[in-house]
Amino acid sequence: MTTLAGKLLRIDLRKCTYQVENIPIPYYEQFISARGLSALYLYNELLPNIDPLDPKNKLIMSIGALGGSGLQGFSKWAVSSKSPLTGTIFRSISGGNFGAWMKHAGYDLIILEGKATEPTYIHVDAAGVHFLEANDLWGLNYRRLQELLKNRHGPRTESACIGSGGENLVRYAVIHSGERTASRGGMGAVMGSKNLKAISINVPVKRPTASAPKTFKKLIKTQIDILKEHPRKKTMASLGTPYITTIVNSLGILPTKNYCEGSITTIEDISGDRFFELKKARAGCYACMTRCGGMREVMHGPFEGSQIDGPEYETIFAFGPLLGLTDRQFIIDANALCDAFGIDTISTGVCIAFACELFARGMISSADADGLNLTWGNKDAIFSLIEKIGNKEGLGRLLGEGVKRAAEQIGGGAEAFAMHIKGLELPGYEPRGVKGYALSMATSNIGGSHMYGRPREEFSGQADPLVETGKGDLIARVQKEQALEDSLIACTFGNTGLDTTMYAKLLLAATGIKDFEDAANLLKIGERIVCMERCFNVREGFSRKDDTLPERMRSEPLRQAGPATDQTVGNLEHLLDEYYQSMGYSSEGIPCVKRLQALDLQAAIEDMKGHLRTNP
Ligand code: SF4
Repeated sequence: MTTLAGKLLRIDLRKCTYQVENIPIPYYEQFISARGLSALYLYNELLPNIDPLDPKNKLIMSIGALGGSGLQGFSKWAVSSKSPLTGTIFRSISGGNFGAWMKHAGYDLIILEGKATEPTYIHVDAAGVHFLEANDLWGLNYRRLQELLKNRHGPRTESACIGSGGENLVRYAVIHSGERTASRGGMGAVMGSKNLKAISINVPVKRPTASAPKTFKKLIKTQIDILKEHPRKKTMASLGTPYITTIVNSLGILPTKNYCEGSITTIEDISGDRFFELKKARAGCYACMTRCGGMREVMHGPFEGSQIDGPEYETIFAFGPLLGLTDRQFIIDANALCDAFGIDTISTGVCIAFACELFARGMISSADADGLNLTWGNKDAIFSLIEKIGNKEGLGRLLGEGVKRAAEQIGGGAEAFAMHIKGLELPGYEPRGVKGYALSMATSNIGGSHMYGRPREEFSGQADPLVETGKGDLIARVQKEQALEDSLIACTFGNTGLDTTMYAKLLLAATGIKDFEDAANLLKIGERIVCMERCFNVREGFSRKDDTLPERMRSEPLRQAGPATDQTVGNLEHLLDEYYQSMGYSSEGIPCVKRLQALDLQAAIEDMKGHLRTNP
């Protein structure tokens, strides 16, 4: 008995066939599950240099080793692929129930291959896997679709699905699960490129049984006791991520007007407390007593009169200060509109902010923007532009390619105003005011993500956020920890009070795998995962030249940013040197043979040798 399902479901969409495969125990021992296992399979199975929207790309859905077990905040699920935005390996994590349903169905991974010849959805039930025609579902938003699938297959049906953004191959389309999304990196576009509208599951509940059930039960009780009284859990349960807005503003790292400024004076308008006033009900994921989500009423757009789970902090920044706004209801409505199309709120906001800055600078005109007046804060124009992106029409066709490609197509210096790293639009943390975080984003193997390694020390005062030296070890460590947590999967907001030692106890009791008993080994696994992902990217041609920040962050002093005013990340090269040294990479950012041997990544050694010019 173990909480590991031990199996994966491999689906060939072209042939409409599937097979169930055992996952070898050494794979779990080396990569745990979820993000880690997916990185291994993608490395082994994807040919280098394929187009992410080609049928040769694969999409892997995964649940963690502890998922579906009743442990609180461990049932999120991940989706991994080669990203159509970045061309790198990618993983995006979602909440909801879908992951737990995967586990109940008996799978730790679902690997989707090929492309269906016509719009299709897949239904998994006790009788097996069914390939079903989806012509009548094409164009439906996630809500209407999920409702319909429940009507067809039973009220307990849970699904992962795309909206019209994914169908239209918007490069930052999301995958929905209930009210939650795997938001970043365009995983929904990969699903759309496969003509796959949804995967639905309705199987009898079969919670996995731990290897040492009594110990595991005791550990769950300990976790619940910790959570009950923990102040962080209380904050998350009442305010959710909107509580972050005021903290970020006080540090001067709230991206404002396309990352020109770092704070606003009217921050109270979008504080956690003000969003709390609009909260109608709590919401959350499977087996999570934190329930950090909040239902809020939509006043405009296709979901008018209903409630959505949101907005999260990242949406507040993207449809608030980034666009010169602090209108709470507008932020909720914009969130709902992005959801209706199934597109990422961060990337959408950053793409629109890019267009607004070009407009303000006279680099695009109203005629270029389909007649829209893209003055900062023009809510009607922003709403129209979201629709155009979702439908991929007019200027929306260009912006739906992501800010990097849009800037390249516009040319004439537009690249200077495209805020991305490796093609992934930047999140809601201004890099110039948190230098370690800047390094983490620059070196992230998935591009400009805030979830690839967050140096909490820079927020708590343990590390000076404005110092540009001595950050390499810190970032190497937090990236390894994040990889570990993404492979369990421990929710960043629901794992309150737990540390690596507790993860070791939980994993040992849950799986019976002895190697997991050692917390130091778990961090080594985290490092192995980050390194595997880096090897994937190196094989695709990525290196030091790509571990960078937008030029604005490196040379343009940040304005109106409290303690971060006038900051730049002027010494990124030094930060990179420190980080590469900590990770055992060459000066070009390539994993060295010695480090690969120490991490038992033998299979990658030959691949890396060709890229290592010196110090192999
Ligand atoms: S803390 Fe929030 S995001 Fe995390 S599992 Fe719980 S409800 Fe989901």
